[in-house]
Amino acid sequence: MNIHEFQAKQILARFGVPVPKGQPATSAAETAAAFSALNTPRAVVKAQIHAGGRGKAGGVKLVSNAAEASEFADKLLGKPLVTHQTGPQGRIVRRVYVEQASEVARELYLGMVVDRKAECVAVIASTEGGMEIEEVAASAPEKILTELIDPVIGVGAFQGRKLAFALGLRDKQVGQFVALLTALYHAFTETDASLIEINPLVLTKDGNLLCLDAKMSFDDNGLFRHPEIRELRDPNEEDPAETEAAKHDLSYVHLDGNIGCMVNGAGLAMATMDIVKHYGAEPANFLDVGGGANSQKVAAAFRILLSDERVRAVLINIFGGIMLCDVLAQGVVDAAREVQLRVPLVVRMEGTNVEKGKQILKDSGIKVITASDMADAARRVVEAIGASPSA
Ligand code: GDP
Ligand code: MN
Repeated sequence: MNIHEFQAKQILARFGVPVPKGQPATSAAETAAAFSALNTPRAVVKAQIHAGGRGKAGGVKLVSNAAEASEFADKLLGKPLVTHQTGPQGRIVRRVYVEQASEVARELYLGMVVDRKAECVAVIASTEGGMEIEEVAASAPEKILTELIDPVIGVGAFQGRKLAFALGLRDKQVGQFVALLTALYHAFTETDASLIEINPLVLTKDGNLLCLDAKMSFDDNGLFRHPEIRELRDPNEEDPAETEAAKHDLSYVHLDGNIGCMVNGAGLAMATMDIVKHYGAEPANFLDVGGGANSQKVAAAFRILLSDERVRAVLINIFGGIMLCDVLAQGVVDAAREVQLRVPLVVRMEGTNVEKGKQILKDSGIKVITASDMADAARRVVEAIGASPSA
């Protein structure tokens, strides 16, 4: 789960990570009030969306009075902001963050992610702050420093010093960096974060370190331990289909193709996507309805698939092990009646109660293209969208 910059900064501040003073606002008037409350000669007004690249896209502005602040907020609020991370449709800005401006001497990069291979948190640092780290990795990989944190020991002061020197920090900044890194690591582990990115981490003209930007993502599987973080979920920033799927406890990931896939089991779902691609089409989604799905869950999954306007055919591939084929068939029939099936439906099922399931589909009068095996199903669904299957 992702959260907004201002929320990440509030969390980081609680752990003692230095961030500028700021206040969120949802209207131009609130923005003006926030500027005045900060009591600062200059502030930065920043669009709050779950995407980076706001600076270049015109979503961040330095302002020096309340009128300027509210004028900029008025320009942003309620409208989409298109950055290179949002896609062409952009993201609607519903909130801005007003922050005390800082005098920047240098911009650095500091990130933390879980390194699954090393089984620990990896710190990533670079002198190339303000730039996309992916770009730095591609153009100047030697400028990216990595330090693995031993989960038993935590951040070693020597690791902080090593990074600080490599970043060109000197004197009191070295101690500041060690403290910042340690606080950041506590914030990371104690909130079950999966990523923290500070880009840029700045050295101010008066020689202090400060996090000017902050991005935090959390491990969904750890959220039950952090109800206060779970509350920060912003449904406006999430794919409505994914939100709906989560409600029904379905594993759904939106993709770019036009073949809607409903499968039970993550492995079978992956294999189904592979075989659809193998025959020359693109899956519109990954959808695992799980092992013991009931017909309501199947119906919900089916509705989610069909709500995607780009879906031109649906492929259901179910192996009835724990899930019973007749239960699946009933769910499909119920949902198809409810939502008006507007696209061809290919079904391949195998396993427990398969004959009963096939009978339910047959008796329903719904137009179903039945397939004998996975390859047959993939070929048929490709044909159903008017393409010829490649192989
Ligand atoms: P992003 O473009 O979405 O990553 O948004 P950032 O929060 O990183 O802001 C973009 C850029 O605005 C930063 O890289 C800074 O160069 C600049 N910026 C943000 N806040 C300040 C500030 O307080 N002072 C100055 N001088 N620049 C700032
Ligand atoms: Mn940034």
